[in-house]
Amino acid sequence: MKIQYAAPGIRVFESALFQTTATVLDTPDLVLVVDPNWLPEEVMAIRRYVDDILDGRPVYVLFTHSDYDHIIGYGAFMEAKTIASEAFATETDQDAALARVKKWDQEYYIERDYPALYPQIDVVARQPGQAFALGKTRLIFFPAPGHNNDGLFTLATWEGRCIWLAGDYLSAVEFPFIYHSSEAYEQTLHLAAEILEQYQPELLVAGHGPATVSQKEMTQRISDALSYIQTMRQCIRENLPFPEEHLWQRYLFRKGQESFHQDNAVLMQKELDAQRG
Ligand SMILES: [Zn+2]
Repeated sequence: MKIQYAAPGIRVFESALFQTTATVLDTPDLVLVVDPNWLPEEVMAIRRYVDDILDGRPVYVLFTHSDYDHIIGYGAFMEAKTIASEAFATETDQDAALARVKKWDQEYYIERDYPALYPQIDVVARQPGQAFALGKTRLIFFPAPGHNNDGLFTLATWEGRCIWLAGDYLSAVEFPFIYHSSEAYEQTLHLAAEILEQYQPELLVAGHGPATVSQKEMTQRISDALSYIQTMRQCIRENLPFPEEHLWQRYLFRKGQESFHQDNAVLMQKELDAQRG
């Protein structure tokens, strides 16, 4: 499996599918696995890596959100303690999320050596700034709705390190995919700007595409996402065409992403219609 980024204490795996990332953090106190995914061999490669480095430490699995690509590998880590947002644990339709996982495996004739399950959550992140501590390791949580309803930003800190696990925000390869709410998405981007300023993380891992160590790039990704949403809203309000050439210069997977762009327009049109009453 492709290793997209590696440094002491950090390994970011990248699936062949949609450049989906799975991160393993390795602190003196625990091993944290973030969104283990996607193909069976890829999930098992992550499992083997975790077993190799474990050395008696507890394993925690963090889910950045409940989209099927991010929970699909959970069954290979069933002994682990689990972490996710309160919305993930209590609001999300678990049967529907699990059905999506199973449907995907059915469509691609995928067989796995572990069960398909919706994760039951041990550490529930409720409040912005809430922390989970074990030894010198602190995980600081910020609920991050907008892409879907149950996203979570996590800052993992230990021994002066600070890694930002962002889930499906701030991607270099995807404009915002808005399944839940464009207003909430914008709020989450403002939160992202505050997090960046306050924590100055050494690494940002997005759910899809390359991680970055550059705070300049982190800032750029926030402003690109904000400007996408604001431009889309303005175009719908004023009945103008969206400047697509610029969009497809920035994001290279046009044929795979056009429908998400159109779905965003439909969702935001509905939001504006609802506001007008
Ligand atoms: Zn995703």
